[in-house]
Amino acid sequence: MNDREKASQARAKISKLITRMSDLGKTVIAKRSLLKGTIVQSKRRCGHSNCKCAKGQLHETTVLTLSHQGKSKTIPLTKQPANVLEQLRKQVSDYQSFRRSRSEIVHCFNELMDAINQLELNLFVEVPAIAEKKKTQKG
Ligand SMILES: [Zn+2]
Repeated sequence: MNDREKASQARAKISKLITRMSDLGKTVIAKRSLLKGTIVQSKRRCGHSNCKCAKGQLHETTVLTLSHQGKSKTIPLTKQPANVLEQLRKQVSDYQSFRRSRSEIVHCFNELMDAINQLELNLFVEVPAIAEKKKTQKG
């Protein structure tokens, strides 16, 4: 592959990466509220020997786990109304999507700089021959 072909390839890559970064940027700026945590379904035994859970029918609870002021916190959500639960799920999933986009933007940016540097190398010309003109005559 000659320099012209390499330059053409670098241009295509730059253009593709910028389009991808633009899409990722749109994902990031569309978010309105983020919740850094996870919502999980937990199954447990309550400890009472006569309870159904002692025979294997475990109690199911939906909990939100998050880190608050350096400590891990578990908040039960079982008694929350459906709309609150739905909002929390959206905020948690938006947080994850935000972080994924952010990390991919960093990756694209590094690739973009590599491609720009590659393009620069492929575009350099030899020192122009017009620079040096030998003097053939005095005066
Ligand atoms: Zn029980």
